[in-house]
Amino acid sequence: MQKIEMADLVGQYRRIKPEIDQAIQKVLDTGRFIGGPAVDSFSANLAQYLDVKHVVPCANGTDALQVAMMALNLQPGDEVITADFTYAATAEVIALLKLTPILVEVDPDTFNIDPSAIIRAITPATKAIVPVHLFGQCADMEAIMKIAKEYNLYVIEDAAQAIGAFYTFSDGTRKRAGTIGTVGTTSFFPSKNLGCYGDGGAMFTNDDTLAKRLKMIANHGQTVQYSFDDIGCNSRLDNMQAAILDVKLKYLDEYCAARQKVAAFYDKALASLKNAKTPVRAANSTHVFHQYTLTLAAGTDRDAVRKTLADRGIPTMVYYPKPMHQQKAYASPRYSDQDFPISIRLGLSVLSLPIHTEMPQEQLDYIAKTITEVIG
Ligand SMILES: *Cc1c(COP(=O)(O)O)cnc(C)c1O
Repeated sequence: MQKIEMADLVGQYRRIKPEIDQAIQKVLDTGRFIGGPAVDSFSANLAQYLDVKHVVPCANGTDALQVAMMALNLQPGDEVITADFTYAATAEVIALLKLTPILVEVDPDTFNIDPSAIIRAITPATKAIVPVHLFGQCADMEAIMKIAKEYNLYVIEDAAQAIGAFYTFSDGTRKRAGTIGTVGTTSFFPSKNLGCYGDGGAMFTNDDTLAKRLKMIANHGQTVQYSFDDIGCNSRLDNMQAAILDVKLKYLDEYCAARQKVAAFYDKALASLKNAKTPVRAANSTHVFHQYTLTLAAGTDRDAVRKTLADRGIPTMVYYPKPMHQQKAYASPRYSDQDFPISIRLGLSVLSLPIHTEMPQEQLDYIAKTITEVIG
């Protein structure tokens, strides 16, 4: 049996190698490396895929969050609400801009930000909510958009792990992750569901004025060349990455389906585990399974489980071991551990299994059998 990987970027590349190689060669032959036709083509194709008016590319998913917050003119001291149980980029960017991150609890089943916790955290200084669509399914956007409307807040959706996922509103309207709030952001980090072969990111919006500002901020605050209207930054998706992404975008639905198939297998094969719970599907979202994350029962020795699985050739990861409020950089007298029992428990009990687009059935059977033996 082939070695089991958390992600198999080489296997995925091999299946589309001629197309990718040709796209890269074309960029080399034209000598257009920054900006260029592939950036425009990919942005337009992604906008069409997402059914959103504007896609503004940038250098990575963290920059996408930063440029979005700068473009919205958030000011030092403004409070921005986000999830305690998440990847650090979200809180990092808020703090870097001297805004105040306000961490709130998540839902124990979906791992996504809890709308009732958002309401409790709102103060007169609150300006924005940043829901993170964690592991591949959307946060409760209907509730979040209702809160945002009532309190006049921006919504910046971090869709770095959920590109392609659909959220369905109670009136039947269906929208892609990242196209619901004021602005959505994503990352094209290689192991993301739509990944390039380096760094990349993008922002999405239906607001024409905001789209112009996003572009301007990502380009040093220039409106016209050498005319600087605002302080911006330098955040570009290069032409080579865009050319690669333009090829891979055609396969995104196939990639999502492959991940969903792995998840469906795990769901069934691991349903009767006594010491672990398989992922719960959110009520109104499809799940594109950036991660397939088990929650281990209290008292299970996760480190021992991981070691035994690793010894048997099965890699696992812990996304994320420690919630943000427990991180030195984001600790605040505002919080104590008592405020975040769910985030803390998740940090201690989550375990992500190998999931990617290239998993042979033989590997899945072996993983399911071994996990059933090891975790029980
Ligand atoms: C990957 C990721 C980011 C950051 O993306 P980079 O391209 O690595 O900067 C931000 N938020 C979430 C939820 C992510 O998973």
